[in-house]
Amino acid sequence: MRELAGHLELCSINTATLGYQLPVGETIEAIARRGFGALSLWRREVEGEDVAAIARHISDSGLQVASYCRSSYIPALTAEQFEAAHSDNCRALDTAAKLGAGCFVMVVGSLPTGSQDLGRARIQVAEGVTHLLWHAKAVGVRLALEPLHPMYAADRSCLNTLEQALDIADMIEGNVEDPWLGVALDAYHVWWDPKLPEQTARAGRARRIFAHHVSDWLVPTTDFLNDRGMMGDGVIDLKAIRAMVEAASYSGMVEVEIFSAANWWKRPVEDTLAVCAQRLQRDC
Ligand code: ZN
Repeated sequence: MRELAGHLELCSINTATLGYQLPVGETIEAIARRGFGALSLWRREVEGEDVAAIARHISDSGLQVASYCRSSYIPALTAEQFEAAHSDNCRALDTAAKLGAGCFVMVVGSLPTGSQDLGRARIQVAEGVTHLLWHAKAVGVRLALEPLHPMYAADRSCLNTLEQALDIADMIEGNVEDPWLGVALDAYHVWWDPKLPEQTARAGRARRIFAHHVSDWLVPTTDFLNDRGMMGDGVIDLKAIRAMVEAASYSGMVEVEIFSAANWWKRPVEDTLAVCAQRLQRDC
């Protein structure tokens, strides 16, 4: 396993961690100043802005763009809505390409309002990802399916385990030397899974681990979406998970991604970045 102490250049900050408190330019500079190697940006920070200028600012700061977040939900009640999401995702991929993003994170969605048909949602996800993969290859951006914890199965993602995400990737892309379809392995979403060791190894053999996110599971968790913990404040054995991920040949960024409305998003960005740096080196 790689040594993170003294090696923040191996680490990335997902800008959601900072609660979008600063304009994107200041966010870039704060992350670079602290010595991190990369960042991941969100569409809300980039859309409508001068994307080329943002990309230049990032590379001038010595940072990489680990990923671009995230897809519009795929499952839909009507063909028109399904197509609209596809077009939206194609546009986001175009932006990801301009940013030079390592991958486009796919949070795939689940039941459209009014539907109880989870099976149909999963079929639509497979169809939608199949279509989107053409555009992803055309613009040169890899797709990272992010399985989400089952507590999000109703609304945010009908992909809930690493195994399920890998099954879809295998079904769509087959066994290829250099895959365009992979997974974002987020400790917060997969830490509980008894199949995590075998499925992480499988993902590694298929060269499909495109991203590794860290945060912590607080006990108790008071909000399902926005109460993630700082690494070291919860119950996830982050070192054990990173050991598995790196034993599976992952050599990309270790990325902090913390949604924390009541705590970290209220703190000054510089303070949060300092604690991220400390905990990455100590607890991950
Ligand atoms: Zn994540």
